[in-house]
Amino acid sequence: MDEQTLHAERVKKMEFAGRGAAIQLVALIACVILGATMGIVGVLIGVGLFIWGSFNAFSWICGHCGNRIDGSHVKICPTCKASFENGGTGDAGEYHV
Ligand SMILES: [Zn+2]
Repeated sequence: MDEQTLHAERVKKMEFAGRGAAIQLVALIACVILGATMGIVGVLIGVGLFIWGSFNAFSWICGHCGNRIDGSHVKICPTCKASFENGGTGDAGEYHV
């Protein structure tokens, strides 16, 4: 039983060319068009879309192999099997933003 558990960090990654950025672009256009046609309601819809896009602009990757993981709830990397559980290093509150 000397199998070593590989420990890695989840890394939060901004994706400028991803789905989130596309939504943000649509949101900006919607803001202008809806704002011009619907007034403040249209602007609010655009802003809401923009915020939604911001949430989609992030993805989590494995700090060990760099592969994409499902989110911050993932405990083990599906690719390299690295564990994201905090191995007693005591920096659970630290995130790379
Ligand atoms: Zn990995």
